Amino acid sequence: MEIVAVPAFSDNYLWLVYDPASGETAVVDPGDAAPVLAAAEARGWRITTILNTHWHPDHTGGNLAVKAATGAIVYGPAGEADRIPGLDHPLGDSDRVSLGAQEAEVIAVPGHTLGHIAYWFAGDGVAFVGDTMFAMGCGRLFEGTPEQMHKSLRRLAALPEETALYCAHEYTLSNARFAAQAFPDDLAIAERLTVVEEARAAGRPTVPTDVAAERATNPFLRARDVDEFAKLRLAKDHFR
Ligand code: ZN
Ligand code: FE
Repeated sequence: MEIVAVPAFSDNYLWLVYDPASGETAVVDPGDAAPVLAAAEARGWRITTILNTHWHPDHTGGNLAVKAATGAIVYGPAGEADRIPGLDHPLGDSDRVSLGAQEAEVIAVPGHTLGHIAYWFAGDGVAFVGDTMFAMGCGRLFEGTPEQMHKSLRRLAALPEETALYCAHEYTLSNARFAAQAFPDDLAIAERLTVVEEARAAGRPTVPTDVAAERATNPFLRARDVDEFAKLRLAKDHFR
């Protein structure tokens, strides 16, 4: 499959996913319709599928307009069905969604929101993880508990190490700076901070990341228990 980042708002990535064999195209978390429709049209792709990871407006705000313009079918978390505009197919853990011959498995990853889900295309080694895991970071706990998020991150980290992780925000520089402060003696984190600083200074995206890189440098995967995780998450909430 072909995956294209559509930048939106200040730091969101809306992902267009094209399956060349069938011509089907998905958009993951269309917070805004106009840039998504323009990006698809520029490539001659017809959007058939909307995949929402959670209800936040920067992820669902364009659902109705994309659906109206394309007739796309909307998939999203069953646990947030009443807050996903235009939802056609509510999904829960281990449900499956197809895009042409490609199939994604749904992984429930509560924490940022209670119903948050991720989409894992095992055949392509790709997962869309919304606001759960970020490059060197994780989402804020708006609705869930530290226990839930700790477990959700561990589930994503347990995917095959070459799995590409498509997160929904470009937060990596701030995450890397926090990681370097939290683990000042860690060489892998220090090295990745340098790489991220260079990429951002040159205006290059740092997403997608992959499972191997996150296992090696994501500070939230260093937490040995829920308590350590909760303390780290709280420290990041106040990090500038
Ligand atoms: Zn969110
Ligand atoms: Fe978001």
